[in-house]
Amino acid sequence: MSVEDRGFVFGDGVYEVLRSIGGKFFATRFHNERLTRSLKGVRIELAGKDSPECFTEIGRELLKENGLASGEATLYMQVTRGAATRAHYFPTPGVAPGIYISVAKFEPPAELRDRGAAAITHPDLRWGRCDLKTLNLLPNVLASQTAKEKGAFEAMLIRDGIVTEGAKTNFFGVVDGSLRTHPTDTHILPGITRAVLKDLAAEVRIDLEERPIRADEIPRLSELFLTGTTTDVMPVVQLDGAPVGNGKPGELTRRLQKVLLESLASGEGSD
Ligand code: PLP
Repeated sequence: MSVEDRGFVFGDGVYEVLRSIGGKFFATRFHNERLTRSLKGVRIELAGKDSPECFTEIGRELLKENGLASGEATLYMQVTRGAATRAHYFPTPGVAPGIYISVAKFEPPAELRDRGAAAITHPDLRWGRCDLKTLNLLPNVLASQTAKEKGAFEAMLIRDGIVTEGAKTNFFGVVDGSLRTHPTDTHILPGITRAVLKDLAAEVRIDLEERPIRADEIPRLSELFLTGTTTDVMPVVQLDGAPVGNGKPGELTRRLQKVLLESLASGEGSD
């Protein structure tokens, strides 16, 4: 890829991460739809016959060629505005988007998911279009590093007194007995795992309210868990050093963790 690629120079691009189990990608259609939406949101047009579907097809070949068609792997696909002499506005005439696709072996953190993780709170310093999956991840990177330095798995981001999402995950919490998650708006990434879990919760008749959790409600959380493509359902048992609920993964968390794992293992919604 050129050093003049705008993804490299400006972070001018978007990306997706998919999970593959036994050579099959999970929720491909949702990821492809989100990639299309992100591209539209930042006004990058794919050239010729290129499409998210072509990219996942290439991903499938990469899995085979790299001995990753069995077991678990991740697919990373990135589209940038392409390479051009550095200038902030879009290149005129337009240039072909820069496309990068890779696969990597993935080992789920089973032990941590069972025991539950620690998290910290951190100011949400991101821009106003967090619903687009763009390469501009510096606030997420810095928050994640702070979490790591404090021995935590995730930083829960707080904007205007509201817990929006994690630096790399969405979250669900139980306040006064009700399961809640942030609604999809421009302040969070519409996570695919979040959407899948919302459907699964309805199937097993667990009520879910899409209503933000305020920072001042944190002490009333009896359960908390994170969701993401590689995170699945990760219980949070400690937040800013204090136990969440009784300091163990909660009952709803365990049920939803189980239904998601079953859904992943069944291969349903995978191709
Ligand atoms: N929120 C942010 C900021 C993320 O970066 C991610 C995943 O990368 C998520 C949420 C979870 O999204 P998904 O479930 O689609 O992996």
